[in-house]
Amino acid sequence: MTAFQATSPQARIWRDRADALKADKRIDGRAFIDGQRVATQSGASFDTRSPIDGTLLAVVARSEAADVDAAVQAARRAFDDGRWARQAPAERKRVLQRFAELIVQHKDELALLETLDVGKPIQYSLGVDVPAAARCINWFGEAIDKVYGEIAPTPHTALALVQREPVGVVGAITPWNYPMIMAAWKLGPALACGNSVVLKPSEKSPLTALRLAELAAKAGLPDGVFNVVPGYGHEAGEALALHMDVDALGFTGSTRVGRQMLAYSSRSNLKRVFNELGGKSAFLVFDDVDSVERAAHTVAGALFFNQGESCNAPSRLLVQESLADEVVSRIVALTPRYQPADPLDPTTVMGALVDDAQLRNVLGYINAGRQQGAQCVAGGAQALVGTGGYYVQPTVFDAVDNGMKIAQEEIFGPVLSVIRFKDEAEAIRLANATPYGLQASVWSRNLDRAHRVARALRAGTVHVNQYDEDDITVPFGGYKQSGNGRDKSLHALDKYTELKTTWIRINGA
Ligand code: NAD
Repeated sequence: MTAFQATSPQARIWRDRADALKADKRIDGRAFIDGQRVATQSGASFDTRSPIDGTLLAVVARSEAADVDAAVQAARRAFDDGRWARQAPAERKRVLQRFAELIVQHKDELALLETLDVGKPIQYSLGVDVPAAARCINWFGEAIDKVYGEIAPTPHTALALVQREPVGVVGAITPWNYPMIMAAWKLGPALACGNSVVLKPSEKSPLTALRLAELAAKAGLPDGVFNVVPGYGHEAGEALALHMDVDALGFTGSTRVGRQMLAYSSRSNLKRVFNELGGKSAFLVFDDVDSVERAAHTVAGALFFNQGESCNAPSRLLVQESLADEVVSRIVALTPRYQPADPLDPTTVMGALVDDAQLRNVLGYINAGRQQGAQCVAGGAQALVGTGGYYVQPTVFDAVDNGMKIAQEEIFGPVLSVIRFKDEAEAIRLANATPYGLQASVWSRNLDRAHRVARALRAGTVHVNQYDEDDITVPFGGYKQSGNGRDKSLHALDKYTELKTTWIRINGA
């Protein structure tokens, strides 16, 4: 039973579906290895609970080194015998497109699993996460039979062919904030290039990855090409990252764990490591902004989306002094519409944080903000206490100094830090003064300023006069400690392919 009562017929439909799913114990948490669901070799498992209300969702395989090894061996066999890697690109495309179609066909089921597992509002699981995952898989499938090799401009006594070859077995380790999308960003390019994949989803969000593996198999992906080993980071994650037969590691997660990925690589087989890590993105509003109202709406919408649990959330608002009071009061006035509510109600825009640890973490940062002298002008407390779930009010801190903890560290919750600046030079200096460099946004009517500032910002993506434009066709990734490599776009193929040069001698040329 849940503390939430459905308040509309639409909410009732999702609530009934959720109750049926839980009551029937229909959610299969076993690993997916070599084309089948399997229990762990030791029998170890863990319970996964919904952050919406704390109810039990499923018993999930707690994969350990032996299970990871079985998955890597299956992936290696599949790669070596060429059952996928040597299929024509057009054939791989066909399977991936079918996989994407199946994701769309199962959209209600996948969206419900995602919302129950991580607490995000059902309207976004359905309208953002599922379509974005499907589009990613489809896009890389569609692209792969249009990728050509090169012939280098060498002296004419020889021919040098430069081709992309799959790296082999790819280990993918993903976070919990967008479980399906993050998995798709690895799977799309890795599978399209002909690799085999072993995916270790976050222990906080293992359910949709397991269903994706079943759907991929149904689409015709051969056994062993895509395996999922749910489990803890220090067990399954570490075993995968240290495995001597994994050729490349695609990691998305915190900067702290990303650092460990490089260490695992150096301690094992020097596997290629591609890290997509945290952020503390700056949103710069200058006094010549076209629309203060649009800027305020955009920062609130982007920051509070997904409960603030987005790597690229614009969590630092840098605003020119003369405008600051107006911008802050507009944002504060918007906070009532982001109050958390039942994630299964399709009108809800802010759901639950992923678990109790994350709730404590966010409340700890709110406390630190107060203690260090920032001014809490909206929210600042836990919400929906008594539901058994983990909710925090949309929170705004004004008078933040860029040296404070809430300005420097990634909170990963609905907490905005407002920092005031005098002029362009100070704005750029403050924006770049964090260890991160994932994303930023510049708001100004002045074209010269917009270009100048965009160039000066040390971030993988800079938006001008907007924040949310996004497409699979553009690369995504960070500068500095936000990571290396890029997900999305054709640039992602670089991570999952080796460049092979073949020299051919031409006699008598
Ligand atoms: P996390 O680093 O705690 O965990 C990420 C994954 O690593 C999980 O699967 C976890 O089980 C595993 N892991 C943890 N410890 C490990 C270890 N010692 N060895 C091997 N694996 C280990 O991150 P999280 O809390 O799941 O996700 C939030 C973080 O992800 C935030 O920092 C966010 O910014 C980042 N993120 C980045 C992007 C991006 O594209 N740059 C996208 C989404 C999330």
